[in-house]
Amino acid sequence: MNILVTNDDGIESPGLKALAQAMKKLGEVWVVAPERPQNAVGRAITLHKPLRLKYVKKRTFAVNGTPVDCVTLGFGQLLKDQQPGLVISGINKGLNLGDDVTNSGTVAAALEGAIRGIPSIAISLDGQRVFRYSVAALVVQRVADMVLRLGLPPDTLLNVNVPDLPLGGIKGVKFTSLTRRRYKNPVIERTDPRGGKYYWIAGEQVSWRRYRDSDLEAVTEGMVSITPLHFDMTHYQALKSLKSWESDLHSYLKGKKEKIPFVSRMKSR
Ligand code: MN
Repeated sequence: MNILVTNDDGIESPGLKALAQAMKKLGEVWVVAPERPQNAVGRAITLHKPLRLKYVKKRTFAVNGTPVDCVTLGFGQLLKDQQPGLVISGINKGLNLGDDVTNSGTVAAALEGAIRGIPSIAISLDGQRVFRYSVAALVVQRVADMVLRLGLPPDTLLNVNVPDLPLGGIKGVKFTSLTRRRYKNPVIERTDPRGGKYYWIAGEQVSWRRYRDSDLEAVTEGMVSITPLHFDMTHYQALKSLKSWESDLHSYLKGKKEKIPFVSRMKSR
């Protein structure tokens, strides 16, 4: 069975190498990863430049694109006749908790696998000066093994986060929901030598909502957090209550004429 391994930290990252090695026990490992770091690119795809698959070594390729590009090329080119049975992304240098999952290239790559109907896992690791990829590799090896043996519900990916602890210090494993972080002063303003303003987006985390039983709570307490995710972003409760707007909106539109004269047409070929 083929296992597609990717990440957003790039082909050179030690987390990727640790993950590829951990997956060897479970199947034939194909590594397709961005040639450069692609942090926080989310589900971005490359549409306006050619993509290259650069051979690094046996079953290992670097791509001049995003993590989702890597998964797309893995499925659509390298493994088009022998689709992978597992997509796994990481080991990310840094946690991906709560709202992070919408920015994270690591999670987006796993999401791409899930959308294609393949069991998928994102794995991220906390650290300060030391990142214990060996610990995360062992964790994810077992999780992946269970996923392959027991399966996942359809359209599901697992977002795994490992705390900054030696293996013996890990307090447990917990299935969790996403927290909601709140950031204070996320924009830092500076002045360049010519007097022009510039900005850094660097949020200082101050508080969170939905802390109980969340991924953040688990990792803060020294546990491995596993959050099952899916791609349906519909807010079903809001959908129900907003239904009452439908007829109002429609009857308003029926009585109006357009006043802003913009219509664009496709150019004829
Ligand atoms: Mn990353």
